[in-house]
Amino acid sequence: MLLADFHPRSQLITKSTRVDKPRFPVIDAHNHLGEPFGGGWNNKPLPELLDLLDEAGVVTFVDLDGGWGEDILNAHLDHFKVKAPERFQVFGGVDWSQWESKGDEFPEWAAGRLKIQKERGAQGLKIWKRFGLHVRDHEGELVKVDDPRLIPIWESAGELGLPIMIHVADPVAFFDPINETNERFEELGAHPDWAFTSPPFPAFMNIMNDLANLVARHPNTTFIGAHVGCYAENLGWVGALLDRCPNFFVDISARIAELGRQPYTVRRFFIQYADRILFGTDMGLDLDAYRIYYRFLETDDEYFNYDMELVPSQGRWQVYGVYLPDDVLMKVYSENARCVLEMEG
Ligand SMILES: [Zn+2]
Repeated sequence: MLLADFHPRSQLITKSTRVDKPRFPVIDAHNHLGEPFGGGWNNKPLPELLDLLDEAGVVTFVDLDGGWGEDILNAHLDHFKVKAPERFQVFGGVDWSQWESKGDEFPEWAAGRLKIQKERGAQGLKIWKRFGLHVRDHEGELVKVDDPRLIPIWESAGELGLPIMIHVADPVAFFDPINETNERFEELGAHPDWAFTSPPFPAFMNIMNDLANLVARHPNTTFIGAHVGCYAENLGWVGALLDRCPNFFVDISARIAELGRQPYTVRRFFIQYADRILFGTDMGLDLDAYRIYYRFLETDDEYFNYDMELVPSQGRWQVYGVYLPDDVLMKVYSENARCVLEMEG
């Protein structure tokens, strides 16, 4: 038998709690509504989407798919935000491809686009993982995450009150050689294009140190480090950056696998940084995914699958619930997002 065909069934008989609804209303601060991650809801009827949000217990949903031009942003704002303003926020972005034609003018130009996006209704800025790995300047040089030429973009976001949801580098195993010691070996086998083996890519820690420099250099700009600060494997590192930079926050999206396999550390982390952690799933509008997140945060269930696959997709392990206290849960579910995303009420 091949290891790939080995699907052992746990014989543990332990408590299993079904959590259909969150204990408190939820703001999903990291998710998508377009293609390919969000299910293409920009082309589907809105009432159906609102029913699903109600069923999931989600009061507000942050759609990171506003893109970087005006066309996609306008389409998403018109389809979601205009019709149900209290249920959605739409984030815009930076069109890195314009660096080539704009040359040295690019950073000021990109900063100016943020103003236009904000006027149109965008409420934040999403920086995708290409930044630090693929984004190049007009001379074809790879751009570092803390490149000082880009200061106008980050300062503008701060002045405009646009929080920046930033994802760089993570997960760390994607930078390691793909061999028998790589804990994401099977996942990389299924998605070879997710590998950023270094070299030729920059080392993981170089990118992370650049992220820390960036966040520290712009104290008046709010940064949300996607997927537990882009380093869910090392909460000591994330905690140190949270300690150093009051303008830094994290979301927990798509990293239940990492969090749930270190439940003691994670429970302490949530309690210590209860004001700095935002709920998010990054799973589109998937009710089963929401229920796994709620079960993880609310119960002390042990050794359960963190996704819906027979072999869990990020690695062959199971997770443990962290039964957060109600006051911490309320902050993570919505209160922190309400502050960071500058919402009323
Ligand atoms: Zn995402």
